[in-house]
Amino acid sequence: MIVTRFAPSPNGPLHLGHAFSAIVAHDLAKARGGRFLLRIEDIDGTRSRAELADEFRADLAWLGLEWEEVPAQSTRLDAYAKAADKLRREGLLYPCRCTRGEIAAAATKVGPDGPVYPGTCRGASADPVQAAWRLNVAEALRRTGPLSWLDEVAGEQQARPELLGDVVLVRKEPETPASYHLAVTIDDAADGVTLVTRGMDLFPATHVHRLLQALLGLAVPTWHHHPLLLDETGHKLAKRRGSPSLADRRHAGEDGRALADSLRAGRLPAGITLGEGLSRQP
Ligand SMILES: [Zn+2]
Repeated sequence: MIVTRFAPSPNGPLHLGHAFSAIVAHDLAKARGGRFLLRIEDIDGTRSRAELADEFRADLAWLGLEWEEVPAQSTRLDAYAKAADKLRREGLLYPCRCTRGEIAAAATKVGPDGPVYPGTCRGASADPVQAAWRLNVAEALRRTGPLSWLDEVAGEQQARPELLGDVVLVRKEPETPASYHLAVTIDDAADGVTLVTRGMDLFPATHVHRLLQALLGLAVPTWHHHPLLLDETGHKLAKRRGSPSLADRRHAGEDGRALADSLRAGRLPAGITLGEGLSRQP
């Protein structure tokens, strides 16, 4: 059975881009008789606001979506710590205390998420106190051998986690112990997600997630990366001054089901366009 999910972080209200992403995941599951899950990604301890999660549920209901809610990330901290311990024991993680500025100054490559960490602390045994822990990607890939993954739109992809460099798996902030990469990979496996749907902006991250699945012995889903809604400047739609959130629209009495149907049909509000999607590779 197909299982998809929508996994928002309660650090700001949902906007049209979120609605589109939720509808894609919902409709892909429902069209094939599957399950659509909601997971609240609330481990950013400094920015998460519990009351926003209630707004999210109201937003999804207003859009006419039906979902099953699975445990929030904050209930899984032990699982993240266990996974990090395993990788640490296997010598695949190393501590790093480099600052953003130091990394930007030392980086020689720019990846999809900005300057690629140049591996300054790899093999240097930095003081682990208040350090982030990074994955030694080259060593990890040496142990797993070549990996591939399947995007149901673009077809089979060779995993190239080196594009993102040695990513952080354990953040230095104790209140947010796991990075997005580690938490989401463990969650999707724990929730039995079989089709990971998300925006094109996360396509490169999938290379890393496929590697983590191999290292942690997790089930491997299929992915569906959908185009993003873009603003007038061609950037990913985000909450901007003056652009109403879903909650604003809901409170103003707008018809959420009609909005959802417009998004499905590609009828977008003025100034918003749908970005480029994937095409099947030869
Ligand atoms: Zn470092």
